[in-house]
Amino acid sequence: MKLEPFIEDTKQVLMARAWSQYSENLVVGFSTKNGGVSEEQFESLNLGLHVHDEPDSVISNRKKLADILHFPLESWVCSEQTHKNKIAKVTKKDLGAGVFTYEEGIKDTDGLYTDEKNILLTLGFADCVPLYFFAPSKQLIGIAHAGWKGTVQDIAGEMVLAWKKEDVNPNEIQAIIGPSIGKCCYIVDDYVMNFVKDLDNVDSKPYEKMSDNQYRLELKELNYQLLVRAGIPPENIQVSSYCTSCENQLFFSHRRDGGKTGRMMSFIGLKED
Ligand SMILES: [Zn+2]
Repeated sequence: MKLEPFIEDTKQVLMARAWSQYSENLVVGFSTKNGGVSEEQFESLNLGLHVHDEPDSVISNRKKLADILHFPLESWVCSEQTHKNKIAKVTKKDLGAGVFTYEEGIKDTDGLYTDEKNILLTLGFADCVPLYFFAPSKQLIGIAHAGWKGTVQDIAGEMVLAWKKEDVNPNEIQAIIGPSIGKCCYIVDDYVMNFVKDLDNVDSKPYEKMSDNQYRLELKELNYQLLVRAGIPPENIQVSSYCTSCENQLFFSHRRDGGKTGRMMSFIGLKED
């Protein structure tokens, strides 16, 4: 039985300290829906600017998170996520992208990585699977957003491929699969399943047929398989057991809340020594 990588830290965040053996300066975590100022369906720590919450509330919530993490907003990078598999390498030139307006985020990008210090990479979530990456030798850090679309387009493998081009051997990459909707709460239809069934060289497809056109799909496990397929050793991969839909007290859930809900953030940053 593996330990849960995410630990409740403050009301606003769960932190993953699994990689502290490599660096005390790594900041890796996932926000909760609590301890912010947004109202109604966004109550209260909505961090998404594109979901029709009051922008001032979202910025205030983001500031709160920035204070907790000691990463000022000016050091954040956000992207315009489109459920595809594009990965962008982030540099200091991108600092502040998408922090105050969604449209100024890095375009059409669901995966971010950098080898620079004092940059907080962020992505928004409400059920989709956050993937965290770290390569100790080159001090590369990355995150990706894998809903079912990003998963079947193998965004997990795309990150590994991008890092290979940076001379990172997949067998040294560490990965964490974060809080996201579990098989307990995630039913998909034949349309989605056909993409899943088309994936080659994946050991076991983690789904259960419930009835005609209804399947329980375990997206976390599918991403785990894809990370292994890409060359990351199984012992380097940790998986959160948190289900965003089950944990009503902690998380927004797009499915559970009928699409009208806020966004949590996954984040990773490496501070200067
Ligand atoms: Zn669940």
